[in-house]
Amino acid sequence: MLDVHGRNIEYLRISVTRDCNLNCLYCKPGTACRNDDRFRLLSPADYGKIVRTAAELGIRKVRITGGEPLVRRDIYEIISVISSVEGINDISMSTNGIHLEQSVHRLKDAGLTRVNVSLDSLNEDNFRKITGVNKLHDVLNGIRKAVIYGLVPVKTNTVLIKGLNDHEIDDFFGLARDMELDVRFIELMPVGEFGEENRGKIVYNSGIIAAHPELVPVESGNSSEPARYYTVDGYKGRIGFISPISSSFCSCCDRIRLTCDGKIKPCLGNNREVDIVELLDDPEGLKAMISRTVFEKPERNSFEDNFVSSRKMNEIGG
Ligand code: SAM
Repeated sequence: MLDVHGRNIEYLRISVTRDCNLNCLYCKPGTACRNDDRFRLLSPADYGKIVRTAAELGIRKVRITGGEPLVRRDIYEIISVISSVEGINDISMSTNGIHLEQSVHRLKDAGLTRVNVSLDSLNEDNFRKITGVNKLHDVLNGIRKAVIYGLVPVKTNTVLIKGLNDHEIDDFFGLARDMELDVRFIELMPVGEFGEENRGKIVYNSGIIAAHPELVPVESGNSSEPARYYTVDGYKGRIGFISPISSSFCSCCDRIRLTCDGKIKPCLGNNREVDIVELLDDPEGLKAMISRTVFEKPERNSFEDNFVSSRKMNEIGG
């Protein structure tokens, strides 16, 4: 599915809930509108309809995100419905990993291909400070089990914030040294109050790369992959950098988003969204709407233009 700027859009990121079992500093879902009567969460059958239509239009990859996807009881059904859609060849999930250890089997059986785990600290006290809970061990056990059971490549995502967790960079390098993981650093984006108010605390990936001459770049072979990967001699895993602020990847963006209340959001850094709930029982109308929304995908995000997001990250799906 080509957009007006010639980009091939084949990646759909689906947020399945706003709810989360953490209260991360940059997200604070506890202070956001939680799932309630004001909107109807999409059902597994709804996701089936949307993904089938999207696949007919050329979507090939799906990521399940949130909020925290593993707090949804019907998450296995959602994955199972999506994985049975013809044309979808990659279903991944972004999770905070708290419930991952006990879910790995069922996720794999339902058809999940791989998993990304958010991990902002390797220090118990700091982990609690950032996430509001004392569950670092559960997350690390979940990561280990995901590697063992083949939900691979397992990727970890770390948002570094000056003065908060940037002293742990070498510990994160140690994780890639010891485990077969893609350990990735993501620059803080101005999405949500915390991101908007802490533009001065962004840790730029270029600085980390410059401080680590042992990093050897890896050719990705995939032009729409936003992460730039590096190996280090003797490491089992790799180090990755996602740099939405210092090095925009809009020109090769291949993704759109679906919020859990049924809005297609063509760009994370733009407030445009299109409601498709009314079209769930009108396959042709749904197809035309998704197609038009993709075609009109903004050329670039508005992060440099004092962007203020109408939604928090947990409402969009990071
Ligand atoms: N619960 C899932 C998880 O923890 O991965 C999915 C949702 S969470 C909102 C997704 C990711 O967004 C997390 O990795 C978090 O670090 C990241 N995130 C949240 N706010 C952000 C911001 N302002 N800039 C960059 N990343 C952010």
